[in-house]
Amino acid sequence: MNFSVDERGYYGEYGGAYIPEILFNNIEELQKNYLNIMEDKCFQKEFESLLRHYVGRPTPLYLAKNLSSEFKTTIYLKREDLNHTGAHKINNAIGQILLAKQLGKKRIIAETGAGQHGVATATVCALMNLECIVYMGQADIERQAPNVARMKLLGAKVRPVNSGSKTLKDATNEAIRDWINNAGDTHYIIGSVVGPHPYPDMVARFQSVISKEMKDQLLNQTGSELPTHVIACVGGGSNAAGAFFHFSENKTVKLIGVEASGKGIDSGHTAATLVAGRPGVIHGSKTYLMQNEDGQITEPYSLSAGLDYPGIGPLHAYLFDKGRATYLHVTDAEALDAAFNLSRTEGIIPALESAHAVAALQKLKFEKSDVVVINLSGRGDKDLDTYINYLNEKADGKQD
Ligand SMILES: *Cc1c(COP(=O)(O)O)cnc(C)c1O
Repeated sequence: MNFSVDERGYYGEYGGAYIPEILFNNIEELQKNYLNIMEDKCFQKEFESLLRHYVGRPTPLYLAKNLSSEFKTTIYLKREDLNHTGAHKINNAIGQILLAKQLGKKRIIAETGAGQHGVATATVCALMNLECIVYMGQADIERQAPNVARMKLLGAKVRPVNSGSKTLKDATNEAIRDWINNAGDTHYIIGSVVGPHPYPDMVARFQSVISKEMKDQLLNQTGSELPTHVIACVGGGSNAAGAFFHFSENKTVKLIGVEASGKGIDSGHTAATLVAGRPGVIHGSKTYLMQNEDGQITEPYSLSAGLDYPGIGPLHAYLFDKGRATYLHVTDAEALDAAFNLSRTEGIIPALESAHAVAALQKLKFEKSDVVVINLSGRGDKDLDTYINYLNEKADGKQD
């Protein structure tokens, strides 16, 4: 099974480019050029050199011995948390800024939720000396103050968005509006495998370095390049797409995506799109999304800002329908417990998003001989307040 799009930008019935006519030239320019640019030798050389010397790749594949003995199997952590800026998002940001330069663009825009993609974009714009404008919901600006400060320090303009729920989906709408008004000289760096074709395929390819490295590292460390399980959290689905990509033809490898169910699937406060949603069109592509009976997008909820999105990349909609990947869901509380457990057992404080992937260990049965790889998408510094509040609440609970 191929994890790339067909010529029209579809994975089965999902994907495509549902865009206003005014963006047609921009999207067509990208569609026509992205593969040629990405396959160009000079481009690849520059991309690989920056990933190595600036981002710090390859990231380690770490055998988590304590976690392994707890779950009576072999568990590796792919340490995307050790990338420059603290998550996998920089892989894609580096790729897209190089592409924007090739296309002669002068101005970069981006949307951000937790601020991780905004920081990654502001970082590469500083590196390449390009103007950077980041759209961010006012609610997220208030929740994610350190990342707002980072973006400003890096020279980006952070534009607050006050429409809707003032979160990621509203910031995305605003970024699309900006692009419509500045179509000629602006490149829009989308932060996940979402949006109109070619973004889902382009972002998946930039992130596919994750599974490429996994294969080499597994071969080295276990004697086989194939694990039995690859587990990754899914917001839009870019770290999962990157972790799954090079295992597309290896049917023995179980691919497991983990969505955030927030306060629970039936609570009305959830972001588990594949369970709570159905097919429709969001932000330029056909995929699963959470919507009411009239097709209006419903507000997602997850304590983790990076997973708080009402859609999912069309690749995942396709893998879900075909059964090639399995999708689980994990609540806020389960993710918090997993973050706490990983910190104490391995000395690694994960991002709350990544903790959803770790929590999935509780929901799966393993053989002793299994080799499980968890893609640890990011580090937990940005979530310290959330973690401390949780520990304090737990301590208070015990005293009662
Ligand atoms: C943004 C983010 C995610 C969610 O995005 P995907 O596109 O689903 O990977 C997951 N983990 C971290 C650390 C993030 O910053």
